[in-house]
Amino acid sequence: MIVPIGQALLVVDGDVRRDLASRAAAADDFGHIVHHMPEAVVRPGSDGDLASVLRWAARNGRRVAPQGRRHSVFGRGQAAGGVAVDMRGRCAVHSVQRDWVVMDAGATWRQVLAATLPQGLAPATLPDYLDLTVGGTVSVGGVGATTSPGVCRATPSASWRLSPAEG
Ligand SMILES: Cc1cc2nc3c(=O)[nH]c(=O)nc-3n(C[C@H](O)[C@H](O)[C@H](O)COP(=O)(O)OP(=O)(O)OC[C@H]3O[C@@H](n4cnc5c(N)ncnc54)[C@H](O)[C@@H]3O)c2cc1C
Repeated sequence: MIVPIGQALLVVDGDVRRDLASRAAAADDFGHIVHHMPEAVVRPGSDGDLASVLRWAARNGRRVAPQGRRHSVFGRGQAAGGVAVDMRGRCAVHSVQRDWVVMDAGATWRQVLAATLPQGLAPATLPDYLDLTVGGTVSVGGVGATTSPGVCRATPSASWRLSPAEG
């Protein structure tokens, strides 16, 4: 899909929404106080799409914000004049092993548990509210009743696929 935004073209495999309803939803969060409207909302169809969006933003001086379940507040996950990336569709749980799980960052903890529990396994720590994404909780949260003092959800994470700012 090729979408003109400003003077530049954004090219992705997935979906790009520019309608008011999609942009307004991406400009809201659980606080409902701060609203930064993006120019577009991308639903990535591949990991390559994330790199494309970041490259496009870096070249054109635009903001990018990945969004999970938008449960953070004060506009933390919003992208004024840029691109909000809706990560909810990137939610596959790829592999469950005794000591680790490989999943997409858009998976919720409920989806992770649904994959691990049939094998009699569960993550060592979980947020109390399971309908948050792994990516969102590791970025800003990651605490719950099962969390040891001083240990956040990110601490036991073994490896990440990181997308650098230049894509
Ligand atoms: C009802 C409610 C219950 C909550 N319960 C808990 C709890 O039990 N434990 C806890 O720790 N916190 C909790 N929180 C706090 C906090 O809102 C969450 O930790 C966080 O928002 C969760 O993820 P999300 O999917 O909603 O992320 P979002 O709010 O969508 O995103 C949060 C931040 O992470 C970034 N982000 C999202 N996805 C990615 C990604 N894939 N890669 C990189 N960055 C990303 C966003 O840009 C943003 O900056 C709760 C909040 C609410 C409103």
